[in-house]
Amino acid sequence: MARAEIVVDLDAVRHNVALLRRLVDRPLMAVVKADAYGHGLVPCAQAALDAGAEMLGVALLDEALTLRQAGVTAPILAWLVGPDDRVAEAVAADVEVSVSATWALAELVTAGRETGRIPRIHLKFDSGLSRAGATEADWPGLVAAAVRAEAEGSVQPVGLWSHLAYADDPGHPAVNRQVRAFAAAVVVAERAGLRGLCKHLANSAATLTRPDTWLDMVRPGIACYGLDPLGGDPAVHGLRPAMTVRAEVALVKRVPPGAGVSYGHAYVTDRETGLALVPIGYAEGIPRNATNVGPVWLGGARRTISGRVCMDQFVVDIGDDSVRAGDEVLVWGPGTQGEPTAQDWADAVDTIHYELVTRVGGRMTRRYAGGGG
Ligand SMILES: *Cc1c(COP(=O)(O)O)cnc(C)c1O
Repeated sequence: MARAEIVVDLDAVRHNVALLRRLVDRPLMAVVKADAYGHGLVPCAQAALDAGAEMLGVALLDEALTLRQAGVTAPILAWLVGPDDRVAEAVAADVEVSVSATWALAELVTAGRETGRIPRIHLKFDSGLSRAGATEADWPGLVAAAVRAEAEGSVQPVGLWSHLAYADDPGHPAVNRQVRAFAAAVVVAERAGLRGLCKHLANSAATLTRPDTWLDMVRPGIACYGLDPLGGDPAVHGLRPAMTVRAEVALVKRVPPGAGVSYGHAYVTDRETGLALVPIGYAEGIPRNATNVGPVWLGGARRTISGRVCMDQFVVDIGDDSVRAGDEVLVWGPGTQGEPTAQDWADAVDTIHYELVTRVGGRMTRRYAGGGG
């Protein structure tokens, strides 16, 4: 057994993607950015495709090119493209690219000339997130430039898209406003001649709660990995968390009452007790603010981290329970054995599970269960 490892259940990824695909009954882009939210880019991409995803979504061109180098031939969209990015390589590798501005369109036209290919692009509209995408004021100009470039045979617009700010609060008026704003932007694009393109808007939360956002394709990320974007119990949606973080106890000892534990003595024993040392810390992505609040499953019980989380390790007060060096510590997992979930951790340290699963790693190894790793 490994000292500390991340176990990714690819059967769970396949289950989740197949479930979402059945729910929406239309094309699904599985979002695998950020190393598949910390679950492993290539094995998760393959699992999602096996389960019926038509397309993959990533932020960076580097991520898309890594997928191509691994032999993944499915359609891929990359959306976070900066100036002087690897656009020509991406076009040569058949990666579809999001375009939010006319300068980016011009770079794609150049990349098409250099590579002898016609870049496939998705025009992004900023419907109210104020992140990527053309604003309402800039949209007609971007659309017109794309129509001209298409007429010259320099690009092929294939998608119109946007991203929601408030999908995790499905009744929020901002969702309705964005749906309406995107519909209006689609009308502008269609009037200018961009008809029959793939329109897509829904992330995981919208995929689970707002059928009116499904349009021609959905783009779930976190739900593919079995976590509930709304912060609830993923089982309610039939989702199965794919990631388990586990470690082995490195040392167990008895200490007297009044022993200060870990840096700054943020925890002091109130009785003679046992302490277990767990060999992972903030270098592995265990948040330092899990000090005295992070939950773990150890020796058949739910316990709480005692004292500061250090770079390489943390300590757990185990009382008089029989725990030995080498025993398993479950940090988070699907919750089926009593262990905390990533949502429990998010609640404990006041963040979202997205951040926890994406950051966990460091010196931990990753192992795949469920076949296909
Ligand atoms: C990350 C991302 C998604 C997926 O979001 P989830 O909440 O994980 O489903 C979809 N679209 C865009 C543009 C994204 O950046």
